[in-house]
Amino acid sequence: MGHTSSVNPARAVAGTDSVLVLNCGSSSVKFAVYEISELTASRARSAARLTARIAGQISGLPDKARLDWKPASEPHLEQPLPDVRDHAGALALLLERLQTNPAVGRLVGVGHRVVHGGARFSVPARVDSDLLAALTELVPLAPLHQPHNLAGILAVSERVPDLPQLACFDTAFHAGQSPVHTNFALPASVRQQGVRRYGFHGLSYQSIAERLPGVLGERTDGRVVVAHLGNGASVCGLLERRSVRTSMGMTALDGLVMGSRPGSVDIGVALYALSTLGMDLDALTHMLYHESGLLGLSGISNDVRALAASDDPRARFALEVFCERAAQEIAATAVALGGLDALIFTAGIGENSDVVRAGIAQRLALLGLSIDEEANRSGRQTLHAADSRVAVHVMAADEEVVIARATFEALSSR
Ligand code: AMP
Repeated sequence: MGHTSSVNPARAVAGTDSVLVLNCGSSSVKFAVYEISELTASRARSAARLTARIAGQISGLPDKARLDWKPASEPHLEQPLPDVRDHAGALALLLERLQTNPAVGRLVGVGHRVVHGGARFSVPARVDSDLLAALTELVPLAPLHQPHNLAGILAVSERVPDLPQLACFDTAFHAGQSPVHTNFALPASVRQQGVRRYGFHGLSYQSIAERLPGVLGERTDGRVVVAHLGNGASVCGLLERRSVRTSMGMTALDGLVMGSRPGSVDIGVALYALSTLGMDLDALTHMLYHESGLLGLSGISNDVRALAASDDPRARFALEVFCERAAQEIAATAVALGGLDALIFTAGIGENSDVVRAGIAQRLALLGLSIDEEANRSGRQTLHAADSRVAVHVMAADEEVVIARATFEALSSR
């Protein structure tokens, strides 16, 4: 995601002002609050210090809502919310709690994670009615995420209409990719209608790219592949910390095997399902978004924790396919980069599953990559073996701080 605005100290918010970051999914509202402090007279982007104050989520929507409230310096709190049934209710409760919480100070803006910005939005954008209309048109491209992202924006608008809101897009980080990596081999008449690769997980990739110097040193601007392995999964190739190639396409279905999405599938399968297997569009959509991936392969779970703990051969098989496909996509991305200097694992699986990291690393030995098994098992952040030609690290994804900073910058440059 690019940042066009710079900090204007004359306009900047300061003191105990805070920004709220929201990531609204189908059954949850994840949130994080950052206090903005220590402004300097500099116009540099780092002029503001963002301090995490409270994070957490309201999960279990619509019937089993519960609040997970994690203040930075107090014990965590968990609480059932029997009266909360939708995003509007969740956000009403959340905003009330935040606005009366002394650790939060004055809320001066809200930054939202929005999964699809299409071709039009390559930088964060202020929310207004035009933006909402444009983002609503993109719902069919991200049916699992976009409607819930928009529900969060609308709920905040209704509750606190004067609070500035910013949309930060998961597609935006990839906006500078070359046409070689964004075009499908389809007729121009189709491609001209916005049918192209956009890529996702951009906020995660940006958060990694920004912190690479502290981890990779002189390899920072080299050929780096980041593997975002979570319930959704993709890989992204970086050169000079910019996105060159990513495994997801126009929708979040392409590329790696995911929790319940298949990743790359011969498009003829979809034609066959519609023409011969008796599926209609809804059944096919449901299968592709909810019944495939690790869940479909194993018939057991979409969760790597459950699969790694299972003795069932189907669980082992599902993990094997996951690792094979991930390694293939990393190698394909190395082709786009002209080689591989570093591999970064991130997100829920990448940060936590030594089994998956080992399964992927073994398959990439042909690129001169090898990991230290003990470092991997014990969860260290630096994984490469002494003789590995490729540096291998684990880094935590931190999309929230990227969104918080973009929101602060947008407020400051009004
Ligand atoms: P994310 O979408 O990044 O939140 O990742 C969620 C996924 O990470 C879960 O569905 C699990 O498959 C995986 N995961 C989370 N914690 C662990 C863990 N401790 N070990 C293995 N996999 C994990």
